[in-house]
Amino acid sequence: MLIVQKYGGTSVGSTERIKNVAARIAKQRANGEQVVVVVSAMNGVTDNLIKLAKEIMPLPNDREMDVLLATGEQTTIALTAIALHALDVPAVSLTGAQAGIVTDGVHTKAKIQNITPRKIHELLDGGNVVIVAGFQGQTLEGQITTLGRGGSDLTAIALAAALKAELCQIFTDVDGVYTADPRIVPGAKKLEEISYDEMLELASLGAKVMQSRSVEFAKKFGVVFEVRSSLNDNPGTIVKEEAKSMEDIVVRGVSLDKNQAKITLVGVPDKPGVAARIFKAIGDANVNVDMIVQNISHGAGAPATDLSFTVDKPDLLKARKVIDHLTQEIGFREVIATDDIGKLSLVGVGMKSHTGVAGKMFETLARAGVNIEMISTSEIKISVVIDLAQGEQAMKAVHEAFLG
Ligand code: ASP
Ligand code: MG
Repeated sequence: MLIVQKYGGTSVGSTERIKNVAARIAKQRANGEQVVVVVSAMNGVTDNLIKLAKEIMPLPNDREMDVLLATGEQTTIALTAIALHALDVPAVSLTGAQAGIVTDGVHTKAKIQNITPRKIHELLDGGNVVIVAGFQGQTLEGQITTLGRGGSDLTAIALAAALKAELCQIFTDVDGVYTADPRIVPGAKKLEEISYDEMLELASLGAKVMQSRSVEFAKKFGVVFEVRSSLNDNPGTIVKEEAKSMEDIVVRGVSLDKNQAKITLVGVPDKPGVAARIFKAIGDANVNVDMIVQNISHGAGAPATDLSFTVDKPDLLKARKVIDHLTQEIGFREVIATDDIGKLSLVGVGMKSHTGVAGKMFETLARAGVNIEMISTSEIKISVVIDLAQGEQAMKAVHEAFLG
């Protein structure tokens, strides 16, 4: 049996933790299984590297950021291999490039194009545990790339697909996927299973359990995986394709995304082509836009409207720069940017067949004295943008109302 295991930053956050991980791997291997391990950078290392670069300049070059950030995972693979050697387990570490992970050239958010795991198979056949650096790859031209924050999850899922692994386990510092972040909502409960789509909403909405792109990838290639803790032996949460019975549960979970920022353009001329011009420019800068809200025209004379949208917090400066360049050309009155927002979301495939969820959610927020700044919905989720300072309180109230 071939198993892919991924250990996140907290699971490898110290040499003690790395030794603990090595002991777990050794146990698996003693059962006769082939083990491929993907590791993240040690807890806090990536953040610290970013901080160092930004101490030098606010918007460092993306290629150099990749060269810098890839060192985090490279440290962990070697230490994990050494920890296995200390237990007399043969193990070899591989960088993303050495593992055959080929990506496109979009630095800091590269996409995996293909994986040629020849080296991994060779090493496994030679009786080794193979430790692969998460989050990184290489272009065909040999440039080092990284896959976006949280990208080690993607490495693990993509490797599980490429290697046709029997089992894919994502080890983290929580016992699985919860109805809400248990660090914020004490009454949150662990889920036995969840569908890809629900997990995707929870992940992209900032439940912080897994990188959303990795879940999309798993859905596309049908990779069933388990999210579980590296600190105990409790069973985790199985993530898989939606089953009929899952629709009986209206709300699966509540999440709070604190990683978004909001930009409002005041007094945008209301005529064809303006939104296209703005979002084409934002897209060309590789900035992801999430929610977009445009109001009806107001004012006498030339019709104008207000346009608000959200971007990932780290992209706010970049987005601001793009917008500032367009001010003259398009002629909006004012730009208001804030990162003091939170996006609160309610998720469940059962919403497809149940009514009244939005009304109950808004009523709960009203009772908690929380003002709603933006609303967006999909078949299986309702999201609102609210004041960041009220985020956790609002999350607790909504969780209590639906899942308490
Ligand atoms: N070290 C990278 C990050 O912190 C990738 C990962 O941990 O998955 O985003
Ligand atoms: Mg992670």
